[in-house]
Amino acid sequence: MTHEMVSLERRISDLEDVELEIMARLEDAQSDLTAAESDLTDLDEQIAATTAERDRRGGALQGELTETEAKRVAAIASIPAELLRLYDKVRERQGTGAAMLRARRCEGCQITLDAGTLGQITKAAADEVVRCEECSRILVRTDESGLIGRS
Ligand SMILES: [Zn+2]
Repeated sequence: MTHEMVSLERRISDLEDVELEIMARLEDAQSDLTAAESDLTDLDEQIAATTAERDRRGGALQGELTETEAKRVAAIASIPAELLRLYDKVRERQGTGAAMLRARRCEGCQITLDAGTLGQITKAAADEVVRCEECSRILVRTDESGLIGRS
């Protein structure tokens, strides 16, 4: 009988230890849950703020795009259709359809034009479309082009 009592008391003591351990683990788990819920709230706030910023920037970009498209329509209105087709065809291949001719160099492909080519461009009428022999871009002539006999 005494042996049974000792055994039962030991069993009760073991079970109490297990109960304490489980309660400690429960407290840890509840603490982790509280921290996770707090993190989740923070993340939800960050997502809401980021989404609002994205929407604001997206709206601004859409406005810029609309404005730029309107400017393009106005800018190309005076350009002959044939020249515009040529520009678009070259642009599809090269990324840009035209390049400045500056200091005898095509700013599209960075090739410096030889004297012969430069002479031909110099003789071309002001409204004639001249193109780079290397990259096919339409060359935009200005006072900085370095054309022979011109300033
Ligand atoms: Zn070129």
